[in-house]
Amino acid sequence: MLLLTAVALSVQAAARYSRPTNPALVARAEQVTGDSFPVVTTTPGGVTVFARTMPRADFLNAIDRGFADLFTVAERHGYHNRIRFADYTVFIGRADRIKDREGQYSPDIAVPAQQYAGTDYDQGGFIYAAGMVLAFNPCALVIAEHDRDLGRVSNVVRFEGEHLILYYNDRRLYERTADHSRGGGHPILQ
Ligand SMILES: [Zn+2]
Repeated sequence: MLLLTAVALSVQAAARYSRPTNPALVARAEQVTGDSFPVVTTTPGGVTVFARTMPRADFLNAIDRGFADLFTVAERHGYHNRIRFADYTVFIGRADRIKDREGQYSPDIAVPAQQYAGTDYDQGGFIYAAGMVLAFNPCALVIAEHDRDLGRVSNVVRFEGEHLILYYNDRRLYERTADHSRGGGHPILQ
């Protein structure tokens, strides 16, 4: 009887969190990263996660911690839009580098330079980014696989998530802070 109840609850939870896969979003993530994402899961909080292999539980928890911090800051600013875990999708891509120029552990993804072309960030047509906004609707980010320093995962989620929160809650501040090639960084919101 207990077992039956537990099964029923987990089925209900799965139904609540399952969302239809968005082929256009997945295609964009594949295009940006050069990876494919055969695994889809959710964090305990309800963030949809696409990955190359099943992420560890502590990695999923690190994603939730980043969003929890972001939502706390957002509420402090009186923002009410897109402050639920279920509003977000995170892609975990293969790291294109593991260490930064100083030799510090820094799993990052290479993305097209675009507006960063010719800046200090430019590596010759691409830049290394800890994370990147992929889409606004649904709200989606890409970050790199980490096998340690999961606090960095939380920070990247919290920081890149700022752009999405601002897009939906303060479009003027979003416009002023979206492009780091003109200066500025994170955190934007204290
Ligand atoms: Zn940013």
